[in-house]
Amino acid sequence: MSALLDWFDAHRRPLPWRDAPTPWRVWVSEVMLQQTRASSVAPYFERFVERFPTPAALAAAPEDELLALWAGLGYYARARHLQAAARRVVEEHGGRVPDDVDGFGALPGVGPYTRGAVLSIAFGRAEPVLDGNVERVLCRLDRVAGDPRQPTVRRALWARAGDLLDPARPGDHNQALMELGATVCTPRTPRCAGCPLQPDCLSAGTADAERLPNKPRRVRRPLVERVAGLVRDGAGVWLVRRPSEGMLGGLWELPAVEGTSAPDALGALGLRARGDGKVVRHLFTHREWRTSVYEADGAVPEGRPFPERELAGVALTGPSLKALLAWGLDLPRRRGAGAGWARPGSTSPP
Ligand code: SF4
Repeated sequence: MSALLDWFDAHRRPLPWRDAPTPWRVWVSEVMLQQTRASSVAPYFERFVERFPTPAALAAAPEDELLALWAGLGYYARARHLQAAARRVVEEHGGRVPDDVDGFGALPGVGPYTRGAVLSIAFGRAEPVLDGNVERVLCRLDRVAGDPRQPTVRRALWARAGDLLDPARPGDHNQALMELGATVCTPRTPRCAGCPLQPDCLSAGTADAERLPNKPRRVRRPLVERVAGLVRDGAGVWLVRRPSEGMLGGLWELPAVEGTSAPDALGALGLRARGDGKVVRHLFTHREWRTSVYEADGAVPEGRPFPERELAGVALTGPSLKALLAWGLDLPRRRGAGAGWARPGSTSPP
């Protein structure tokens, strides 16, 4: 595996969490990188660690502020778990990120991947990782025919990741495998000719290099039709807060219900449409929302108004952000350049 480390030393991407890699910065980056590309994470990461430079800073933060900084990254349970873990770090570990498997692995939201990544990268412990990129590389390297989501195959892949680990540089080794999967052994058209693992790879130069891992095709996302009301008055734009548990928990959104008939749906919310609606589509990992948004009159039950100048700091759902943009509100510019908000047409996790 020395060829892999040589390749990494020559090709590692400059990423913000690789500068001054304190345990806290490594941990935050690894949580953000789950299910999300490095290029998308970078601006979120820099804002987040600037505002919360230590576990103690995050532990003391109001949830609204945390969610506003996370809005657009998706999988909001990750943010809540990170804050719960930061509070445990403050209460039980004197504010220092624990450097052992038992201490770090017992924190809320820390699964095998996060544990392996943080302990190896931040503390040099010989712990393997298995994320989607590593899974793809290992399946191709060994020409694994089974579905990696099956428990037996998964266990074998974890064991293989552990066997391959370089005990002298475990953090770099893990990052190298992940980086190789992200940039060379990509899902489509892997670049075997430039791959440091080519001499040992059973799939190199075969159709398996592109075909593996052997995962059954994902079924088409179900389409959910919704109707939402944009109510604006002298107090601002009226929003409602989603329940803290479940999809997009705790975020603010325009009042909305499932349905296709605007009069019926808005009527159920106690609202009346004014004029034609605008359609906003939003892809989540497992579903698609198609929301017809109407300017509307009426009282928003359990809602509260936000002055337009304050909306940029509110933890909005992606679909509601798109709806406000579609109706001409200029949120990203108010929020600041490079804010990283989800843009129309983007795909978001729940
Ligand atoms: Fe992937 Fe090709 Fe490298 Fe094998 S040789 S690990 S298939 S890029």
